[in-house]
Amino acid sequence: MALLQISEPGQSPDPHQRRVAVGIDLGTTHSLVAAVRHGVAECLPDEQGRHMLPSVVRYLPPEAGGAGRQIGFDALAAQVTDPANTLSSIKRLMGRKRADVVQVDQLPYTVLDRPGMATVQTVAGEKTPVEVSAEILATLRFRAEDTFDNDLFGAVITVPAYFDDAQRQATKDAAKLAGIPVLRLINEPTAAAIAYGLDNASEGVYAVYDLGGGTFDISILRLTQGVFEVVATGGDSALGGDDYDRALLTWVLTQTGQTTLLNTASPVDRAGLLRTARQVKEAISSLQSISEFIAFNSTIESGEVNFDVKLSDFADATQALTARTMVAVRKALRDAGLTKDDIKGVVLVGGSTRMPVVRQAVEAFFGQPPLLNLNPDEVVALGAAIQANQLAGNNPDGDLLLLDVIPLSLGIETMGGLVERIVHRNETIPTAKAQDFTTYKDGQTAMSVHVVQG
Ligand code: ADP
Ligand code: MG
Repeated sequence: MALLQISEPGQSPDPHQRRVAVGIDLGTTHSLVAAVRHGVAECLPDEQGRHMLPSVVRYLPPEAGGAGRQIGFDALAAQVTDPANTLSSIKRLMGRKRADVVQVDQLPYTVLDRPGMATVQTVAGEKTPVEVSAEILATLRFRAEDTFDNDLFGAVITVPAYFDDAQRQATKDAAKLAGIPVLRLINEPTAAAIAYGLDNASEGVYAVYDLGGGTFDISILRLTQGVFEVVATGGDSALGGDDYDRALLTWVLTQTGQTTLLNTASPVDRAGLLRTARQVKEAISSLQSISEFIAFNSTIESGEVNFDVKLSDFADATQALTARTMVAVRKALRDAGLTKDDIKGVVLVGGSTRMPVVRQAVEAFFGQPPLLNLNPDEVVALGAAIQANQLAGNNPDGDLLLLDVIPLSLGIETMGGLVERIVHRNETIPTAKAQDFTTYKDGQTAMSVHVVQG
């Protein structure tokens, strides 16, 4: 692989011959943009050298003037003081009705019920999840354009494997609003496999265990000579690091006899308590011995919460969540017709896989230590960048073929409200299917076809 391109003075290749194609990991908690430069995929930093952009947008009152919003770290810093207008975890709302958003009442902002997709009430008016996501995507687009001093040709954007068509369409709409041509949407675990598969070029069946801030995805992939086939996908679109924060907070408040705070704390207090829970959780990940502890200290309007949390306490408080991920792992293996002994390697993806309790559970289940040689926060964006580079035609030697599966069955409604499944869950796509149906009445000249998924 050419790492450096050396040219005679004045004869360097025209930079416009190379199309700027990036991979974007539009995460629930963090988003990243990566590109292949000099043959190597790397995440693009902001002006301060930071790779991760918190997926948070804060809307300011219209009279404040200026841009009217803050994006990323500035917004995150305002979350505790202005939770009602600081929109985090917006990915949970993408392409969803209010009633379909799990634990919608736990979100610190007001989610409104609207036909099609839920929206959020802010001081600057009602905002759709598509608009909010577009702010994050546009920030990453500008970062890429500034880095390369050129317009963006296109992006590969990643989505959780469990996203249905409405959620995928909402993601495409957000990209359009941000002025980003979408080369392709790919599943996050598939992107991780691309990043690992190209680096290692080893054959066999792999499991990709992705525990992020708000979602859990498990994918079973078969790698053969640079070809990736997704054999099965599964997971839980409402289980992630945020739930570990809540579980730890609930556990601490139970220990200190302050459980009433769970219902009575103001939104500002709640955000403060959850922030402390998250800091304690992340600090616990680097504890060396089980006798060490991290102090949970939070001063809120309605008092103080103080408790010393040990690694074993944290394991107890969150054991049920980790167990839930393993249930989904077993199900995906069953769908694939495989057992854990067929798995050659396990790839860890997502910030939450830094937790020792999670690593131990994964290692115990599969009977082998997981692969960790790529940064679990960046691996999805890096894989998307490799794919984008190929789709943009920058790598004519690339022979990467990407087979994907449909995460949820597709079918049509038949008379009497039954569903006839036509394309089954986890079938390889693209695919074509034909099936005969009869009309309901003699002489019928028209029918409407109701397509349903999941
Ligand atoms: P997403 O894909 O949902 O955007 P990320 O992969 O960025 O999520 O993971 C974010 C989650 O990872 C958060 O819940 C965060 O608290 C958690 N996290 C990050 N670092 C650590 C750590 N050292 N220990 C435990 N959890 C961590
Ligand atoms: Mg992620």
